[in-house]
Parts: sequence; C-alpha cells; structure tokens
Amino acid sequence: CGIIGYTGKRDAAPILVEGLKKLEYRGYDSFGIATADEAISVVKKEGRISNHAGTAGNLKGKRGIGHTRWATHGVPNDQNAHPHTDCTNRIALVHNGIIENYAELKRELIQRDHVFRSETDTEAIVHLVEEEYAKKNHLLDAVRTAVSRLKGSYALLVLASDNEEIVAARNASPLVIGIGDGETFIASDITPMLEYTERVLFLEDGDIATVTRENVSIYQNGKQVNRPVELIDWSV
Ligand code: GLU
Repeated sequence: CGIIGYTGKRDAAPILVEGLKKLEYRGYDSFGIATADEAISVVKKEGRISNHAGTAGNLKGKRGIGHTRWATHGVPNDQNAHPHTDCTNRIALVHNGIIENYAELKRELIQRDHVFRSETDTEAIVHLVEEEYAKKNHLLDAVRTAVSRLKGSYALLVLASDNEEIVAARNASPLVIGIGDGETFIASDITPMLEYTERVLFLEDGDIATVTRENVSIYQNGKQVNRPVELIDWSV
C-alpha cells in the first residue's frame, strides 16, 4: 500500500489527499486520512480516493497521515481501512506491510480490555502504542517499545493529538522523508513530495524517526543516526 504524512505550515488534508492519489498504484481498495488539530479527525472509506469527491480534504489540522490500502488481513471495507485509532482516540496509525504475530498480540490486548474495531493485523499495533504512550507519555519510546513486539514487515506512521511529532518506523517496507521549508513529508515513495521539495532521505530497516515541521531525528537501536540527504534532480 501507500502511506504519507505531512507536518508544516499548510493544512495537511489537501496535501495528503493529492499525495494518496499519486500512491494509488501501490494499492487502492480503500483509503483514509487522519489529521490532528486539538483532537484526531479521521475519514476512511472503501474504494479509490480518486473516485471520492468527499470530505477527506476538509479535515482541519497542520499535521496528518494517510493511507491507500491493499488489504492482506480483513476484507476491504470502511472499518478495515486505515488509519486505525486507539481506544482513547488520541493516536492514529497507518501501516504498510504484514504483522505475522498479530493474532497472538490481539489475544493478549483483548485480555487487557482493548476493544478492536477492525479485522486487520495493523490494529494490534495502535493498541500497543496506546498502552506504552499511556505509561510514559513519550511517543518515540512508545513506538519503539511497540515495534519491538512485532514480527513481520512494516512501514508505519503514528500521529498523536497531543504531540507535535509524527513518528515513523520502517522494517522491510519503504519510507522516504522529504525536507521542505518549514514543512516535512514522509511517504512510501518520493512522488507525493516532489512538487514541494528536492531534499529527501531514505530510512533504512530498523530506523525509527521523529518528524516535526522543522526537524527530523532518526534512531537505530536506540542511538541517533544520520541518513544522507539526497537531492532529487529532475533535469536529468
Ligand atoms: N496488512 C495491512 C492490512 O491488511 C496493511 C496492508 C497494506 O499494506 O495496505 O490492512
């Protein structure tokens, strides 16, 4: 599937909607976006975003995440579309990939009173992040602990209503960050960010990154690392 995130000076929703149209070649059975203003708002639907003349682009907020799905676990429908949210509606998450141990995680989470609203493998991740975020109130650490429980492939983006950062994590699914002027993009490939910036960096497997409109920090095994900023040159 395709995922995209934006944080910056503009309204996020129209950028996410246009970006998802460019990522549709990666999957198109459903789509969704979440933005954070004071709270998280979500629009998600079965079908193609390019056929949807709806409300997704009107969501308020200067940061958000989006997804165009190619279902692996759970049929294509509105509930199974991403983003998935936690029980408190404080966190939204999009995921590209497959979580092989999701059934076991889901069983464990349901025993701890989490209520699942989809049949996806992905939803287990958002409940894991919810638990850790409630304990520490530190989004990066919460995502780090949650992904340490996962077996499988993922590129994921996590948005919280009460945190400036979007947290990204990658293992065996692509993720690229675009550095703009007072705005930052994260997506499965460079196509959604090309009209805004030429400066990109590619995450590697095991990377976890925090992204704000002014800053990108990348960690591998708990240590901060640098990934080279590359210039996309369209004249060649
Ligand atoms: N495994 C997830 C799902 O079925 C993500 C699939 C995708 O990458 O679109 O919802």
